[in-house]
Amino acid sequence: MCLLNSVHNRPDFWHIDYPHCGGYSQSPVNIQTANAVGDPQYLAPFVMNGYDSAGDLQMDLENNGHTIQINLQGKGIYITGGGLSNAYIADQFHFHWGKNDKRGSEHAIDGQYFPMEMHIVHYDMKYTNYSQAANKQDGVAVLSFFFKVGMHNVNLDPVIKRFPEIPNRDDHTTIKKLFLRNLLPQTLDGYFRYYGSLTTPPCYESVIWSIFYEPINICEKQLQSFRNNVHQNLANETNRDISDDFRPLQPLNHRLIYCSK
Ligand SMILES: [Zn+2]
Repeated sequence: MCLLNSVHNRPDFWHIDYPHCGGYSQSPVNIQTANAVGDPQYLAPFVMNGYDSAGDLQMDLENNGHTIQINLQGKGIYITGGGLSNAYIADQFHFHWGKNDKRGSEHAIDGQYFPMEMHIVHYDMKYTNYSQAANKQDGVAVLSFFFKVGMHNVNLDPVIKRFPEIPNRDDHTTIKKLFLRNLLPQTLDGYFRYYGSLTTPPCYESVIWSIFYEPINICEKQLQSFRNNVHQNLANETNRDISDDFRPLQPLNHRLIYCSK
């Protein structure tokens, strides 16, 4: 979502160069399930268009120096429903992980973290592209999925197997089209909703967050591939692993968190 081009790389210092990062509606947050407000009428199921037919869309796998991102070149994948007032086009998806299984996700549920979290980033179709939408109110809708350690997940292999081709920052390669629906958990009607921000600078408070209840399986070996095989290759720190790429929790402040059921 951004380039970190300053010496203030640590999240605590982001607000110096990017004032929005010090705002009152930042992400990620801890979701306290007991305080979530149930609103099934508002939070209807999503309709995911193009999630199971990649069409003529190109997928580009990129190491951007702080995460692994799959850029979706084309407008064939979009979501409606889910309490959104418009259709939102999928632009890219990426992952946040940690050094060990006890951390890695950006959001937490009742104080508990997951070893990895995937964000599918969409923008309101009334804008020309993601950059136009990124700083507009409700311009961005992110679908967020947690991972739990379990069985080997074959659906992740087309991505993980290509990591050796993108070891360093700014490396990228075209991958075979994959069906996004195959990456997702079976049940998609349970999710939390709140209004927050991008979790990387410039931290615009433009994001409608949907955090799904059901996690995705990943095995330990696959998690290790994220931790060990992707490097930052910063100018003064050659080939440092990207072993933690999540932003710490931000205060919820005045906001409510809704849930679909
Ligand atoms: Zn993210």
